[in-house]
Amino acid sequence: MIAEILSVGTELLMGQIANTDAQYISRRLSELGVSLYRHTTVGDNPGRVKEALREALARADVVITTGGLGPTEDDLTKEMVAEVFGLEMALDEVSLHAIEAFMERVGHPMAENNRKQAWFPAGATVMPNACGTAPGCIVERGDKAVAVLPGPPHEMKDMFERRLAPWLARRGGAHIESRFLRIFGIGESAVENRLRDLFHADNPTLALYCGPGEVQARVTARAADAESARAMIAPVAEEIRRRLGNHVYGEGMDNSIERAVFERLRDRGETVSFAESCTGGLVAARLVSVPGASAVLGEAHVTYCDAAKARVLGVREETLRRFTAVSAPCAREMAEGARRVSGADWAAATTGYAGPDGGADGTPAGTVFIAVAGPDGATVEQCRFNGSREFVRAVAASWALNALRLRMEALS
Ligand code: ATP
Repeated sequence: MIAEILSVGTELLMGQIANTDAQYISRRLSELGVSLYRHTTVGDNPGRVKEALREALARADVVITTGGLGPTEDDLTKEMVAEVFGLEMALDEVSLHAIEAFMERVGHPMAENNRKQAWFPAGATVMPNACGTAPGCIVERGDKAVAVLPGPPHEMKDMFERRLAPWLARRGGAHIESRFLRIFGIGESAVENRLRDLFHADNPTLALYCGPGEVQARVTARAADAESARAMIAPVAEEIRRRLGNHVYGEGMDNSIERAVFERLRDRGETVSFAESCTGGLVAARLVSVPGASAVLGEAHVTYCDAAKARVLGVREETLRRFTAVSAPCAREMAEGARRVSGADWAAATTGYAGPDGGADGTPAGTVFIAVAGPDGATVEQCRFNGSREFVRAVAASWALNALRLRMEALS
C-alpha cells in the first residue's frame, strides 16, 4: 500500500507552526509497514486543496489529510474530498449528537457552524473524535481512499491510533493491536534507558509518549489476526512491567492516575479525604472527574492559610511556628488531621511553594511536601518540580494521587 500525506493549513506555510502531524504520521506509517511516498502542504484554499488531492490520488492508494476540519468557513477538507470523488455531502446524525454532547460537556453553546462538522462525503466511514468536536472520516472510491484527520496534534494522534491505524492494517491484509502502559514517577529518559534494547524490534514496536508528569509506552504488533497480534505483545508488555515495577500504574489510552486511585479504593471498599494547600483543590477535582467518585470520596479541605490548617485539620501551632507550613511535619499533620476529621481510611495532603516565589527561608519555588495517612501510619515525601505555577500545581496533584496509590498497593 502506498500512502501520501496532505497537510492543510495556511499557518503551516507561513511558518507559524511546525508540521508535527506529518512527522508523527510518517513514523507510524513506517512502523505499520505502509510505504509513504510524499508529503504535500497546502494552505486553506479550496482550489489548491482539490488540486493537491487529485495529484496525490493519481499516485497513491491512500491519501491522509490533516487539518481543515473545524467549524469555520475556511475549513474545507471534507468538502474538497467530496468534490474530487464526485460525492454529495450527507449529514451523519450520530456525529451531530456526539458534537452536541461534547459542547454540553465543555459548557459551550452549540453554534450553528458546529453542525457543519457532522457533514461528510456520502458513504464515508466516520472516525469519531474522542478529544474534540471535529470527527474525521475515511472516504473510499474504487481502490483509492482518503483519510481525513483533524489538525490539533492530540486529536489527530488519538484518532490515528484508535481508528486509522487498525483500518490501514486491515487494508494491508494485517491486523494491528496496541497496548498502552501508563507509567508514573520516572522520567522519559530513565524509562528509555531501562527499555533500551526493546526499541530495536520492528514487530512488535515500542514507542514512548510523554504527558504532563507521566510517560506512556505503546506496544504495537502487526499480525494476521488480532489474537496473534495480542500474543506477540504480551511478553513485551510483561517485560516492561517487570523492568519498571510499580511505576506502571495501569493500561489503556483512557486510563489516568486518578482512575487508578479510584479503582483501588473501590475494589478495597475504602475511602479517602484530602487536605490541600498549594494544589487548592486540584487533587480532589481530579478524583471527582472519575464517574462514581462519590463511592470513595466524602470530603476534601482546602486549607490555604496557617489558621485554617490549625482550625480545620488540627495542625499544631508549634509545628507551624518551628517548621513553617511548607514542611514535612506540617504535611504529615495535615494528612493525619484530614483522616481523623473525615473518618476516611486514607488521606493525602499537599503543601508547598507553587511559585513563582519560594519561601522566605530560601526554600525554592516548586518545593512540595506530599503526605499520605492510612491505616498503617503516615508517610511524607519532599518533591521538587520545575515549571510554571500551573505546572507545579498540576504535577503535585498527580504525585499526591500516585503516592496514595503506592501506599495502598504496599498494604495489599
Ligand atoms: P479545529 O477544529 O481546531 O479548527 P482543524 O482540524 O480544522 O481543527 P486546523 O484548523 O487546520 O485543524 O488546525 C488547528 C490547529 O491544529 C492549528 O492552529 C495548529 O495548532 C494545529 N495543527 C494543524 N495542523 C497541524 C500540523 N500539520 N502539525 C501540527 N499542528 C497542526
